[in-house]
Amino acid sequence: MSAPAEALVDLDAYRANLARLREAAPNAAQMAVVKADAYGHGAIEVSAAAREAGAEWLGVATIEEARTLRRAGDTGPLLAWLNPAGADLAPAIDAGVDMAAGSVEQLDAVLAAGASARPRVHLKVDTGMARGGVRGAELTALLAAAAAAQRAGRIEIAGIFSHFACADEPASPVNGAQEHAFTEAVDELSSFDVERPLRHLANSAAALTRPNAHLDAVRVGIASYGLSPGPALGTPAQLGLTPVMTLRTALALVRRVPPGTGVSYGHTYVTKRETTLGLIPVGYGDGILRAASNRASALVNGELVPVAGRVCMDQIVLDLGDTPASRGDEVVLFGSGRLGEPLAEDWAEAASTIGYEVVTRLGGRIARRHVGAIPTTTGSGG
Ligand SMILES: *Cc1c(COP(=O)(O)O)cnc(C)c1O
Repeated sequence: MSAPAEALVDLDAYRANLARLREAAPNAAQMAVVKADAYGHGAIEVSAAAREAGAEWLGVATIEEARTLRRAGDTGPLLAWLNPAGADLAPAIDAGVDMAAGSVEQLDAVLAAGASARPRVHLKVDTGMARGGVRGAELTALLAAAAAAQRAGRIEIAGIFSHFACADEPASPVNGAQEHAFTEAVDELSSFDVERPLRHLANSAAALTRPNAHLDAVRVGIASYGLSPGPALGTPAQLGLTPVMTLRTALALVRRVPPGTGVSYGHTYVTKRETTLGLIPVGYGDGILRAASNRASALVNGELVPVAGRVCMDQIVLDLGDTPASRGDEVVLFGSGRLGEPLAEDWAEAASTIGYEVVTRLGGRIARRHVGAIPTTTGSGG
């Protein structure tokens, strides 16, 4: 390990998770969501693995993310769902990337992009999340404008989609209401004499729990990385998922200290007895959440040991107690849990956030290493 820390990404586990999600939603196409550098796992390698596993679609947020995948050789169906003001959409459209339009203005941006290829557009409906997309009269205007543009040969309506606000709370009545609103939007599109395009609504949580929402494609992100979409759905193991990423480093300094030793900034941790402190060379500058100060644990030589004091920018102190340890010993911050190490979910709970943030934030000086049979070429999908 030449970098201070390493994120091991197990592509076999990733493919197994996609297979598990396929089992959960057998009649829908699978859109592997690889936005934000595949939730911190490395978009190029993960995308190739997704294609190899049979994912019909890839989904990303930004045009730039989509173009990165094209430059890496991916040629399959690919949707980029952010349509920001001022973005230059033409290169992505010409690279065969499907665009999203969540309002008439966003559709106009696609029409005005000046691409040589005819843009393929997915219409974004606000069914209750009130994030992207529109509803009511604005939706009617979007559907009408898209239908007219398609009749004029200026776009192809390739999809219609929406996003759940509460799918990680399976009992929430919002889910059923959103499904209902989505069905109505699809019907309304048909009323403009448009052939029904790809309908997609489900994220990971809905792929795992709401067969009624599977429709034509499911957009799976977090569960494909082996994390639970939320505590109400259970642990990764209960969901049949294997965490893909292991974050590990090595002890840089090990020393005995007396009782009453204040540790790290602010001395928010004070040793109660003589103990061993272990220093690891990672911190919030690498995306480790500072809110996990004094709350998270790591695995060292088979023992779970607590973070002692504040997470610093580049360093964290662990209280090793009487665990035998020396400089260079491996420290696993989180991983699959196979060896008793914490899960990303445990760090999330410690930092009062979600597992998504724990893995996606990692960056900076952490080296990513992909293990498991690594595809040598990017697939063409389908
Ligand atoms: C991020 C995202 C997803 C994936 O959600 P997960 O909960 O990670 O499965 C799906 N659709 C859209 C629009 C998203 O932004």
